[in-house]
Amino acid sequence: MPDTVASTGQRVLRRPSFLALAGILVCVAGVEASGLALITLEQRHVKWGASAYGTGAEITYTFLREPLVDPEARNCRRMAPLEQALGPSGIGRAAFAAEVSAAFALWSDAADLRFREVRGLEDAQIVIGAQAEPRHIAYANITLGQARSEGITALERATICLNPLVNWILARDGNLETYHVRRVLAHEIGHAIGLDHPGPEGGIMGYRYVEPAEGSMAALSAGDIAAIQALYGPRGGADPLIATVSTVPTDGTPAGSAQTKGHALGEGQKARLPLGP
Ligand SMILES: [Zn+2]
Repeated sequence: MPDTVASTGQRVLRRPSFLALAGILVCVAGVEASGLALITLEQRHVKWGASAYGTGAEITYTFLREPLVDPEARNCRRMAPLEQALGPSGIGRAAFAAEVSAAFALWSDAADLRFREVRGLEDAQIVIGAQAEPRHIAYANITLGQARSEGITALERATICLNPLVNWILARDGNLETYHVRRVLAHEIGHAIGLDHPGPEGGIMGYRYVEPAEGSMAALSAGDIAAIQALYGPRGGADPLIATVSTVPTDGTPAGSAQTKGHALGEGQKARLPLGP
């Protein structure tokens, strides 16, 4: 995929016109027949690697170091270097990188996934940066590739953009106006690798931001694990929780008018789980 540099000095992504659905992230309730919350576009799920359920993938990522514009993107259309999101919160690059690694590890510990940092934008499949036009909390955007098989379309690129005006935190602070970097990243990475919301609640992929009163701020639920293993298989080839997805998704969403409303993580919702019974 060739990139070009526009006269403004901003890198502009250009891609062939066959990607009619480029940049659409569907954050509708994507629970299909099997009960797994997987992103569904044109009645197909999306994943990295081979276009077959239960197959692993190695995925590269990088941190954005220059302005990036993707005119076709639904979310993260205009992105800025990551530093712009971290600076106001006082989070350094090394600390942020550690949070990113931990967020990726949540998924790679559960499924046959490997995430590898690369330096060059052209080599990266997932790009993490700041929003150039701050909105809500964070978004993910996915771009479809050409490869497809029954039920699955390959992913070509994904972006994750963090709002630079949000107060990002590294540890639980009891403040309802701050957002935990690792938890939000794990959620957006989930979108970037093919997962949708199971609903407002439900592990990492629930769309309502929740700060657990105790325990880990970022842990996968059984539903998160079942969904990711359906796409990529379990880590190490053990028996998956869900061996196969036997039905082609039939959410009935017209491809050209998919409800792309971002997701409610970006709508300032924040709630706390009750402190036990
Ligand atoms: Zn979401």
